Amino acid sequence: MSSQRLLIRNGFVVSMDPDVGDIPNGDVLVEDGAIVKIERGLGVSGAEEIDATGMIVMPGFVDTHRHTWQTPVRGVLPCCTLDNYFAVMLGSVGGHYRPEDVHIGNYAGALEALNGGVTTLLDWSHINNTPDHSDAAIQGLKDAGIRAIYAHGVPTGGEWWSFSELNHPEDVRRIRETYFSSDDQLLTLALAARAPGNSNFEVAKHDWELARDLGIRISVHVGMRLTTVHVHHVKNLDDLGLLGPDTTYIHCTDSTDEELDLISETGGTVSIAPYVEMLMGHGPPPTGRLLNRGVRPSLSVDVVSSVPGEMFTQMRTALVHERIGAFTDTPDEAFAPTLTHKDVLEFATIEGARACALEDKVGSLAPGKQADIVLLKVNAINTAPMVDPLGTIVVFADTSNIDSVFVAGRAVKRNGRLVDVDVDGVIQKLEESRNHILSRGGLLPEWAAEPMAAV
Ligand SMILES: [Zn+2]
Repeated sequence: MSSQRLLIRNGFVVSMDPDVGDIPNGDVLVEDGAIVKIERGLGVSGAEEIDATGMIVMPGFVDTHRHTWQTPVRGVLPCCTLDNYFAVMLGSVGGHYRPEDVHIGNYAGALEALNGGVTTLLDWSHINNTPDHSDAAIQGLKDAGIRAIYAHGVPTGGEWWSFSELNHPEDVRRIRETYFSSDDQLLTLALAARAPGNSNFEVAKHDWELARDLGIRISVHVGMRLTTVHVHHVKNLDDLGLLGPDTTYIHCTDSTDEELDLISETGGTVSIAPYVEMLMGHGPPPTGRLLNRGVRPSLSVDVVSSVPGEMFTQMRTALVHERIGAFTDTPDEAFAPTLTHKDVLEFATIEGARACALEDKVGSLAPGKQADIVLLKVNAINTAPMVDPLGTIVVFADTSNIDSVFVAGRAVKRNGRLVDVDVDGVIQKLEESRNHILSRGGLLPEWAAEPMAAV
């Protein structure tokens, strides 16, 4: 945490907090990494001042599910099905990862997230082929300075993913003791669990008990449709009596109404990854079906093997998918969608924080919260002139507008550049890693293997 006082001056504050609201020409005072005051015309001396004129001052985005380790193979499956993805990524590619590939994947992936204004990332890490792989994943997140939930998963490989008889590795206990003895740090621990279907029933029971014994939250993929496996994951978990408010359910795309009711009744949270769900055919993002049950979802990127690693795409995809879902075949019935740009911005910020049980710390700007703050340049050619600030963020902005990013008051991006990062060096390591992994899987394009192909 930074001990300096920081005054962010004269920005358009979009707080996402109902009491603070939106404040044109607002100032935000930060002390010891936390927000102290948000007002107009704060008279403060002795603080480092940051001029936010022409910028929106907003909370950092929260991505509630990303397999960050896949960063070195970005784009390897730009248009695949979920069946392909399982066969290629978990069945082959993941097996070629060395610990150093996991490290650069998590480091570069977390930097990518920060660069795009994502200040909190749930790293759903199922690349734990050895304990060294786990250590490398955690180190990569630490090195990037992001706020992250490291969700410890199983190794890659088919035997872990289809009615698996293998319990979650006990190594998570060592990781809990070694890295996560305190819950009050930038990095926290969760269990990246498998529902029955991915595991068998006994294993699921074991894994849920393990997470609860460790006192950590659970994140689990459910309701994504594979051709070969037809399973009602949530129903199966309910049959085992395992549903609870400590669990985030990812996708829920092919989940039945009864299953969504069960999630709602047991206080679970949900992560939708709308781009990947529509691309790979997990099923339609269940945004409206969840809202009808009082469950406000969070959003996630999932995989940069197929999906852009920022939240603008997720917000826009969620918005237009849900709105066209309100279209009917009745010509004289007015088109009456209900989801708005404000909803999806909440999904990408405060609802993400809730899904990580971090809503007291992040997800909105308010006194007492951590200073996880994004300055978004709106006096730019793709965003000017501004009329509706929330509309500017959701409809027009992209990563090029992210001017500055702070995590607990510490600047990780300033004036459009990552702070203290050798970007060229990172890219070189990513390319070396890509070449190692994909050449073994027979997926490296010929041009990429040439010595000067640093593209
Ligand atoms: Zn996923």
